[in-house]
Amino acid sequence: MTKLNLIAGEWLAGESEIENRNPSDLTDLVGMFAQASGDQLEATLDQARVAQAEWAAYGLERKQAVLNAIGNELMARAEELGTLLSREEGKPLAEGKGEVYRAGQFFTYYAAECLRQIGENADSVRPDIEVDVRREAVGVVAIISPWNFPTATASWKIAPALCYGNAVVWKPANITPASAVALTEIIERQDIPKGLFSLVMGSGRSIGQRLVESPKVNAISFTGSVPVGKGIAAAAIQNLTKVQMEMGSKNALAVMDDADLDLAVSLALGGAFGGTGQKCTASSRLVVHAGIHDAFVEKLVAGAQAMKVGHALEEGVQMGPVVSQQQLGENLAYVDLGKSEGAELACGGQRLEMPHDGFYMSPGVFLNTNNDMRINREEMFAPLTSVIKVGSYDEALSVVNDTNFGLTSGIVTKSLARATHFRRNARTGVVTVNLPTAGTDYHVPFGGRGDSSYGPREQGKAAAEFYTTVKTAYISAGPV
Ligand code: NDP
Repeated sequence: MTKLNLIAGEWLAGESEIENRNPSDLTDLVGMFAQASGDQLEATLDQARVAQAEWAAYGLERKQAVLNAIGNELMARAEELGTLLSREEGKPLAEGKGEVYRAGQFFTYYAAECLRQIGENADSVRPDIEVDVRREAVGVVAIISPWNFPTATASWKIAPALCYGNAVVWKPANITPASAVALTEIIERQDIPKGLFSLVMGSGRSIGQRLVESPKVNAISFTGSVPVGKGIAAAAIQNLTKVQMEMGSKNALAVMDDADLDLAVSLALGGAFGGTGQKCTASSRLVVHAGIHDAFVEKLVAGAQAMKVGHALEEGVQMGPVVSQQQLGENLAYVDLGKSEGAELACGGQRLEMPHDGFYMSPGVFLNTNNDMRINREEMFAPLTSVIKVGSYDEALSVVNDTNFGLTSGIVTKSLARATHFRRNARTGVVTVNLPTAGTDYHVPFGGRGDSSYGPREQGKAAAEFYTTVKTAYISAGPV
């Protein structure tokens, strides 16, 4: 049975439908999914405006209860929904379950934030006048999310949007619609006004583009690629719509000669190949000090070769398939490009044949690369990583910072001095010390610099900057 969109509070069939197949096993049909029409989008945007006013007027504890219920259900059903997520996206089951549980935590965190919306007050510079500064909802928020964290990325946008009193129109990635329907079913069952939350599945080029061009939208939160992000920003400016974007990166992990070797190798393997390398925080550049280079590379390559690649739902699998035929084709093209640029492919980077027909490839490590190569400048979103050998800490820092992106960076070192200097001088929004470049908390800001991000930070209290607008009130009480 076709899964439907949630339009103005009703589950509706669309103008067409698409099929969704399991990238671990193409014979497994996950389901059929409705594609919203332009008219449905208009109708749901109109209803969202009405519902938003009603929702913003709900009592704080009523909103808090809604967010808590969504979060608690996600956590309680992490096993079931994580299995669905892994089945349609291809990440190993432990990662799928972990993602759904984490998505629940975004909702329970922002449930508590419902009660922590405290403004400022001041005396006016004019006599006998008081000033009250508080935040109000921006209105109708469009959320456009990617497939690589289909539940978590959407949740870290939806939870604050609702917490601060907004309506949401969500266009998930068309490659992972099942997770989107599952989350929408949970949200729709709550005590919310009809049409407060909409699901508009459809392709980015059609329904996504129409959504970001709509003057009925007050704010757009997007995660995805740089070209699409730039197009969204250009559309948003036509209506002066507020926009927030997170667009991936070319994250570097610097491994110093004083590093704990085994720790460095395990951080590099996890950071490069977790989620099949399809993470905006993936360690795609390993900047390695000459003093530890050979030992590091030997263990890294051995570790990559030992990784178990297979069906995402199979016990013991460490790396699932890539998400789609298109992504696989692009990844293999990057392998050829790396070789043609003079990089040495030490292992992996090959299409793999498995008992199930899926989009499998082996984790690949490039050696003898330099930071000018395209494989070190462009986001590949692939299970591929490059080693760049450097002669000193200073050179490592300068290579780390030599990128158009700036989401995360990390250093592996036992030196407090180097760790401190790196933390203060790496030009990224997130810096890690003796930790992977991937993996962040929900209660603190997340975002980057350069081509990685645009607009206010996401997550934690920082999210209020995007999902609210400030009102400054002047009050003259008059004589007693
Ligand atoms: P896209 O940027 O195309 O997709 C991200 C989201 O934007 C999806 O929901 C997509 O819809 C939607 N979208 C696409 N075009 C438009 C548009 N014109 N207007 C509004 N919304 C639109 O990324 P891809 O999924 O194609 O991945 C391509 C590359 O992007 C990856 O290889 C990776 O480099 C990068 N990427 C980075 C991510 C990150 O976490 N920063 C996440 C995902 C991708 P739909 O998919 O349905 O077309």
